[in-house]
Amino acid sequence: MEPENALRRMRRWSDSAAMPPGPERISLFLTNKCNLHCRHCWRNWADWDRSSASELPDARWMRLVDEGAEIDTRHWIFLGGGEPLVRHKLMMQMIHKMAAHSMTSWIHTNGTLFTPEMIDAMMDKGVQEIIFSIDGPDAATNDAIRGSGFEKAVSNMAYFEQRKKQLSVDCPGLFLNATLTNLTYDQLDRFADLAASIGPGVKVFLSGLIVEDVETASLALSPEQKSALPEYLQKGMRRARELGISTNFDRFLDGELIDDNLNMQRNVQPSQRIGLSGALCYEPWLSAAILPDGTLGPCCAFFDPKSLSIRDLSLKEVWTGVYMQGVREGMFNGKPPGYCVRCPSNLFVDKERIRMALTEQLRRDCMSGVERLSDMAQRVMSMLYQQGPAALLSNIAQWFKFHYGDK
Ligand code: SF4
Repeated sequence: MEPENALRRMRRWSDSAAMPPGPERISLFLTNKCNLHCRHCWRNWADWDRSSASELPDARWMRLVDEGAEIDTRHWIFLGGGEPLVRHKLMMQMIHKMAAHSMTSWIHTNGTLFTPEMIDAMMDKGVQEIIFSIDGPDAATNDAIRGSGFEKAVSNMAYFEQRKKQLSVDCPGLFLNATLTNLTYDQLDRFADLAASIGPGVKVFLSGLIVEDVETASLALSPEQKSALPEYLQKGMRRARELGISTNFDRFLDGELIDDNLNMQRNVQPSQRIGLSGALCYEPWLSAAILPDGTLGPCCAFFDPKSLSIRDLSLKEVWTGVYMQGVREGMFNGKPPGYCVRCPSNLFVDKERIRMALTEQLRRDCMSGVERLSDMAQRVMSMLYQQGPAALLSNIAQWFKFHYGDK
């Protein structure tokens, strides 16, 4: 989410507490089912019903899209784990309806269940990005983790690229998403080669491994491998630069993000609360995630049997209901939900980017004109004194870009 959009939505919360806006984006887990059996999937250890009996029926998911449009949701994310394309007819109908409401979507998928017909049918339907989970730069490595599927996923990515070229369109952008494991940490340059062999715009993203059971522990990096990782990240970044491939490898130069970010999250202290500023995380005001049984929480890391479900209530009722209000309060009073202590790697980085961009802005929104002038003068003097005139000029340029860049 762009910080500008996040700030606009937070200001709407401040301005109309009685009629708050809906979530800017909603992540959807359509199903518990999957056609693969990956060793690191949380479906192996998470403690909930995985049968299709508890899943919402198609009609409820379709109605949800209209309810999202009514409360100004702009973007949807189909998430994997189960695999969303197991319910591909429903997913395609939802995508068409989202496009009719001028809303956009992303899809996270293992990439093995696409057909050429499905790919053709989603080319102009607002699907901005498709994130393919591929955990090795070759079939042997990928399939050692995911069981199978490498050739099918790669050929489907290639077909997307072929259709985009024929139609002269940029969307959907394709990502090759790999979990960082001890089978691949030293082969990151080869992921860049694989991406380049599929198409020039394919990006490579790494995700941190969540270690929860014996199987996931067997894929984790040893202390020696962690020490060697920066060298392989640099090698991967060099190769990606040569090939013109974008990656997020630099994020993993920070060792804490690899272990897990439990300590980092503990170190993030909410700033002093003024208005809505100072929350540990702004996701509960900006985004929602809905599990297959309809329970709704703030983000894709959410799982809480105490949450409310859209099975019996409208999206708006659940979004403004007692559970989400409790989550929002928890972001100020040092009692965030339990799943926040393991906020996953890329989610953590993204939510921190938003938090840092918004907190000062929201705090200043609550000040009088005189307080704002005094606050600005203090910050200018402090930056000049501590960092020098070049840093001050660079910050002023960033301020203008943030506020007037898109005008
Ligand atoms: S898990 Fe992370 S992104 Fe989700 S609400 Fe908690 S801190 Fe925010």
